[in-house]
Amino acid sequence: MSDAAKKLLTGIILVLAGGAAIGWLYGRPEIGLLIAALFALIWQVRQLLNFDKALRTDDFEDFRYGEGIWEQMFSRFSFERERASRRKNAYRQLLREIRKSTNAMPDGAVILNEENEIVACNRAAKALAGLKRKKDRGQRVDNILRDPELTSLLQADDKSRTVEIASPVVDGNWLNCRVVPYGADQKLLLLRDVTDRMRLSKMRRDFVANASHELRSPLTVISGYLDSLADDEQMPPGWVKPVEQMQGQAKRMRQILGELLELSRLEGAGTVEEDEYVDVSALLERAKLAFEGHANIADIEVSAQSTARLSGSAAEIETVIVNLLSNAVRFTPNDGEITLTWRSNSDGADLVVTDTGEGIDPEFIPRLTERFFRIDKGRSREEGGTGLGLAIVKHVLARHDAELIITSEPGEGSEFRCHFPAKRVVVAPPVALS
Ligand code: ADP
Repeated sequence: MSDAAKKLLTGIILVLAGGAAIGWLYGRPEIGLLIAALFALIWQVRQLLNFDKALRTDDFEDFRYGEGIWEQMFSRFSFERERASRRKNAYRQLLREIRKSTNAMPDGAVILNEENEIVACNRAAKALAGLKRKKDRGQRVDNILRDPELTSLLQADDKSRTVEIASPVVDGNWLNCRVVPYGADQKLLLLRDVTDRMRLSKMRRDFVANASHELRSPLTVISGYLDSLADDEQMPPGWVKPVEQMQGQAKRMRQILGELLELSRLEGAGTVEEDEYVDVSALLERAKLAFEGHANIADIEVSAQSTARLSGSAAEIETVIVNLLSNAVRFTPNDGEITLTWRSNSDGADLVVTDTGEGIDPEFIPRLTERFFRIDKGRSREEGGTGLGLAIVKHVLARHDAELIITSEPGEGSEFRCHFPAKRVVVAPPVALS
């Protein structure tokens, strides 16, 4: 018990005892005690009311000095108030520093709530995406930055995924967007200006496309002369083999240029919007028939487990099938087996090419879709591979919102699974009205 509390109790006891003693003198000690108790109570209530008034008016003059319990309560109260105010100032300062640093960031940062409504944003978000801190607070960010890619990113909840959207502020500028979960049920949308990177990659794409295009004409002329030479019956016998080799190399160059042009086209385009309902099972059957014509290849089986159609481009899906199947054929011995599967469920659909061939070392799997990446360059070249097939597959799949999942074990075969999201799968294609 504090000294002040002890003093208060002693005072009350003394007053009560005094009251009782005076009452006793008059022959009624209980009345004396009652009056003294009333007096003590009134005095304490008065002090309480005074303290309440002091709290409301912030005038503690009456409680500033003295050693009673009320004075002590005042000094504790002012100590706590000062501490709270110091803490508040420190937080305010910290907040100011955080705001200053987020405003100094070159990247845009937007705090979103669960409904993707803007809670706060920094200065860069205004400069990059035109977001207004006060006016746009509480608005859905996908209503302000209208881009289907961004909408799907916000729905996906995948912090490793990023999308590029056109800047709503400067024509021709590009923003890279990433969503990071933040706090409880909040997200941080990060915006980065990637205009230079996009320009550079467009320049690279244009250069490859132009160079491939320019090389095509001279190559056609060279191939033409080589074909005439090969057909010339008076050609010296020593020339036959070199001309044949030149023809083979010219054919390979034509193939590489064709695939480079195809890659540039795919890279430059967005997602496929065509409303073609692709009959994947039929394409698998067609690919099987085309390849079965080749001598000495593994058995090819088609396993059509779904009648669902795929919304996309039939020509591009056929390219995927042909590329995957030609790889499977090349890397599977004659006594092996290749299975082409089409299946679907509520998660989407899978086009799977499985082989019992030589398999792939796990360390190479992440690099297979890089341009010109081949595990055994010499062998791939000999077999007519360009190293561009899986890069093309990856791009076509990206255009169909799909991904390529490769699983393989050396010596056990490989599985190349193309996973299409449910939105690309049409279970009952609409019947055309005539
Ligand atoms: P390539 O024209 O060389 O086939 P791709 O891009 O199609 O180029 O394939 C890249 C590399 O991936 C191949 O060179 C090969 O090493 C490996 N690969 C692709 N498919 C298979 C497969 N089914 N089995 C084993 N290795 C494969």
